[in-house]
Amino acid sequence: MYLYGIKNKLLKEGRKFKLISKTLEESQYYSKQELQNYQDKHLRKIISHSYNNVPYYKNLFDQIKLKPSDISTQEDLWKVPILTKKDVKENFKQLKAVNASKFLLNEGHTSGTTGTPAHFYRDLYSINFENAIVWRQWQWSKINIGDKMIVCRGNKVKIKEEKNIFWEQNFIQKQLFLSSYYLSDKNLKYYVQAIKKYGPRSLQAYPSTAYVIAKYLQKNNDKIKLNAVFTSSEPIYEFQRRIIEKYFQCKVWDFYGLAERVVSASECKYHNGLHINEEYSVTEIIDDKGQQAQEGFLVGTTLHNYAMPLIRYVTDDYTRINNRKCLCGREHRIIEPIETRKEDMIITKSGGFVSPRLISTVFKELKYISKSQVIQHDFDKFEIKIVPEQGFDNRETSRVIKGFEEIFQDKIDININLVEDIARTKNGKFKRIISNVVKGRV
Ligand SMILES: [Zn+2]
Repeated sequence: MYLYGIKNKLLKEGRKFKLISKTLEESQYYSKQELQNYQDKHLRKIISHSYNNVPYYKNLFDQIKLKPSDISTQEDLWKVPILTKKDVKENFKQLKAVNASKFLLNEGHTSGTTGTPAHFYRDLYSINFENAIVWRQWQWSKINIGDKMIVCRGNKVKIKEEKNIFWEQNFIQKQLFLSSYYLSDKNLKYYVQAIKKYGPRSLQAYPSTAYVIAKYLQKNNDKIKLNAVFTSSEPIYEFQRRIIEKYFQCKVWDFYGLAERVVSASECKYHNGLHINEEYSVTEIIDDKGQQAQEGFLVGTTLHNYAMPLIRYVTDDYTRINNRKCLCGREHRIIEPIETRKEDMIITKSGGFVSPRLISTVFKELKYISKSQVIQHDFDKFEIKIVPEQGFDNRETSRVIKGFEEIFQDKIDININLVEDIARTKNGKFKRIISNVVKGRV
């Protein structure tokens, strides 16, 4: 944790970081045209770098007879084919810039749908840029670097279970890292005591970890006063947001980002969707035929990662653009919260998708469930894991079955499993929906 602290402090408070932050402070109020000019300028640079230094792009461009000068603005980007996760895996070495050794390389990780970790090279500038984007949102919420913060995400934390210590301090950056793997009813009282004793101004968490702590507070008629809760990495549901905001007595500020570092979006103080951080990348939305659309999968082109520039990388994340103008005055486009990742979608026989939000409405009506997880084994075969609370009975079970039958309007086979707990993934994330059908067939 000490080394982590030093490294992060250098990254978060270094000279480059400060310069980028200053630019981002101004660019947040750029007009649409100014934003586009900024993007096009950086796009031309990264396209030319990709052609000259990245073997994959040199080959690709030559093959389709494309010259870097053919792409002078983002309107020309369609000329470059979409890059998939599979393309990246198969051409990993060729996607690394040959002059990348002069950059500091840092590998980002994602666990992907197959569970195989995928790595991405990142250079120092792009890491600084990412941090500055994150910090810009903290400033919107009036949180400053150096304000005490609790972090409860997938970080490795050295715990001392026999002493009921499930956290570790990062003294350098004034953060208390809580392990997200021990959040059981038995341990939560120690977690809550530790948070109160630490006296943080904010919490950075997965929606599911913040929710578990908030639910514990609710059950014990307790509250912790914070100034902001920052969530990311999992879709956030309305029922989670409501409880988190009530028991931490502050707003939730959701952030969207991904290990590939090609799209990011931040909720502003109006909390009505997320502003795409246009300075970070060129973000597009495409439908399943690969056409530009208002609703579909996010596609991103980095503007700053020269170590491994990904151009038109298609993500698994599904959303839609909201054309409303935000009251905050920023011209950055707004996307709806990403509640659907390809791997979390339930797929129907006809090839349609069922939104996780619809599934969550079934559970909303239930009073005595502390956690649930839906696993789709086949089109019509579901397993529902439920961690019941005292008071849970057959009536609740019937409600779940009825709710599912209403959604699918078909004969489906539902197997309800009452369990003591539901495991998190290797990264400490909680998956509310797992579809084995999507993985196998789409
Ligand atoms: Zn706004």
